[in-house]
Amino acid sequence: MTSAAPTQLRKPYVTSYAEENLDLPLAFEWVDGMSRLTYRDALPLEWMFGVLWARCGTAREGRIQWNLVHTLRQRRCMMQGLCRVCGKSAIDPDTGRISWILTSALAGDFRSPWPTAHPPTCKAHVAEALTACPKLRREPPVVCTVSDYTPVAVLVNLYGADDGGRVVEIRHQIPVNLNDRHLLKQALATQLIVRLEDLQPVQG
Ligand SMILES: [Zn+2]
Repeated sequence: MTSAAPTQLRKPYVTSYAEENLDLPLAFEWVDGMSRLTYRDALPLEWMFGVLWARCGTAREGRIQWNLVHTLRQRRCMMQGLCRVCGKSAIDPDTGRISWILTSALAGDFRSPWPTAHPPTCKAHVAEALTACPKLRREPPVVCTVSDYTPVAVLVNLYGADDGGRVVEIRHQIPVNLNDRHLLKQALATQLIVRLEDLQPVQG
């Protein structure tokens, strides 16, 4: 179910559109003596961090799915420090620090590095993101900055083969560490998880 959102709100860069959903011709293949998930017509660029990524269109047009994250734009935001709302850099040019919104449940201890699948939010769009994001409305958010971050895991769906040899989903939306090479071969990645370093809450 998708939630309604006021039409005057910007359509966030990271949000998915129904027309961007594509068929996933999943299959298993043998590579170096191990079975791995692939597409029947896979391209090399559809793997990153040793895992196959969910295929999706990139038109950013049509019926927006407010509660769904677009896999490739989420990954791009994470890899390049881009804002989830506008898709431009969330790095403060004065301080070099990156602006990020966390839920308070996640940000309990600012001294510890913390994993998150939520992309950054640039300073200019913090207020808009807090208004527009249903998840952030449900859970009290904390606005902070970070000095750096590192990819550590992926959010995935795990697949196996049934008795008829058909590819079937066996686990939905679980985190898998980037070091878990065995599990990554059965996985379809949907979001990149990064570890935030040196969190500092923004006062006021
Ligand atoms: Zn922005």
